[in-house]
Amino acid sequence: MDFSFNDNEQSFHDELNDFLDKELPADWYTKPVRWPHDYAGSPYRDPKDEETGEVFRKKLADKGWLTISWPKEYGGRGYTNMEQAIFDERMSYYLAPASGGISCGIVGPMLLRIGTPEQQEHWIPRIASGEIGFWLGYSEPNAGSDLGSVSTFAREEGDHFVFNGQKCWSSGAHHADYSWMIVRTDADARKHAGCSLFIVDNKTPGITMRPVINILGNHSFNEVFMDDARVPKENLIGEKNKGFYHLMQALDFERISLVGIGTFKRFLEELVEYVKTSTRNGRPLKDIPSVRHKLADLATRVEIGYMLFYRTAEMLDRGQEPNVESSALKVMATELARDMAEIAMEILGPYGQLTEPGERAPLRALVSRGFLESISATIGAGTSEIQRNVIAQRGLGLPRV
Ligand SMILES: Cc1cc2nc3c(=O)[nH]c(=O)nc-3n(C[C@H](O)[C@H](O)[C@H](O)COP(=O)(O)OP(=O)(O)OC[C@H]3O[C@@H](n4cnc5c(N)ncnc54)[C@H](O)[C@@H]3O)c2cc1C
Repeated sequence: MDFSFNDNEQSFHDELNDFLDKELPADWYTKPVRWPHDYAGSPYRDPKDEETGEVFRKKLADKGWLTISWPKEYGGRGYTNMEQAIFDERMSYYLAPASGGISCGIVGPMLLRIGTPEQQEHWIPRIASGEIGFWLGYSEPNAGSDLGSVSTFAREEGDHFVFNGQKCWSSGAHHADYSWMIVRTDADARKHAGCSLFIVDNKTPGITMRPVINILGNHSFNEVFMDDARVPKENLIGEKNKGFYHLMQALDFERISLVGIGTFKRFLEELVEYVKTSTRNGRPLKDIPSVRHKLADLATRVEIGYMLFYRTAEMLDRGQEPNVESSALKVMATELARDMAEIAMEILGPYGQLTEPGERAPLRALVSRGFLESISATIGAGTSEIQRNVIAQRGLGLPRV
């Protein structure tokens, strides 16, 4: 088995490095306040960095790099999924503001698969240019892991579906323009059979949002209520009552596109550097066997994460659906994010608990944030238990229990 990039891939990798070195300040990776595989976006401490990030993102959109694996006629570059993976890895390693997020990582690829030509023509260019943003309207108070239990109901009325119900844990809904939403469209069908997928405009009369504050004290979640919200029929995506099956594919994309694999390597390098240059009670950290072993474990797991990540891209290029593999990648990466935070906290000792950057707060005070936040990644986009169920059932052929 050959693990090296082919010539095209290697030259794209080098082109990306040159671009990133030229377009971002050398210390850019210190700017975003981000933990590996975080869900809370990339806030910056200095608003000027936000502006630099926006300019950079626009340059990527102009080059068609936010959607590089999409067909050229839809604003993409027609690159392979492996090249997309190389792009994601390099951007996340530099902590570049590059993610097309839910729009380019989930909604766009799904529209290209199951949207009508009219829907593709309407939505895809606006997604590719970064003009519109989406949030995911899946979870409800009584439907999380078991998404087939959604009870928000859409009844047909003339040219519209009329929505009534509630979504919760809606990350970033307040910053987005549209929702990619699953609702029930057949009250009598078996639960998984009666659901459909829609694009819903946030501005639709009858939709209201209430903020929900996360573990870090930030407004990242929302509750979203729909009271007789009228959604045009042309916003039904895919087949009516087949939404649950479409959604399973969308979740695979989510598990791959949100991973930010390069952030793990970057943070590990920073932690190793800290260990090489710091002491605990007068003793160099680099000489302490337990510290060395923990770093060795992290390095091994980062390497496994990279293998799984590139494997999903390779499967997509071969026309295979990386379903079990995307679950394996998700559970592997999110639990690594959590363990990395715990190990960093042990290595830094009390200094790891500081929340504001400064002389005494190593690694820009990121560890306290990661320690709190990393738990959420093992829950969002399907919990670790659900990923293990997928691997056991579909990967190992064990019976459903
Ligand atoms: C940071 C974050 C961001 C999120 N963003 C969004 C978003 O943007 N949009 C959205 O729709 N949702 C979002 N969610 C919600 C998320 O998808 C759900 O929290 C998740 O699917 C779990 O559902 P639940 O909270 O209802 O827990 P439950 O499904 O009630 O699960 C409770 C516990 O039981 C376990 N469990 C449940 N079923 C099984 C089973 N069959 N086998 C073994 N164990 C099981 C679970 O693993 C969990 O430990 C987000 C969640 C988080 C933490």
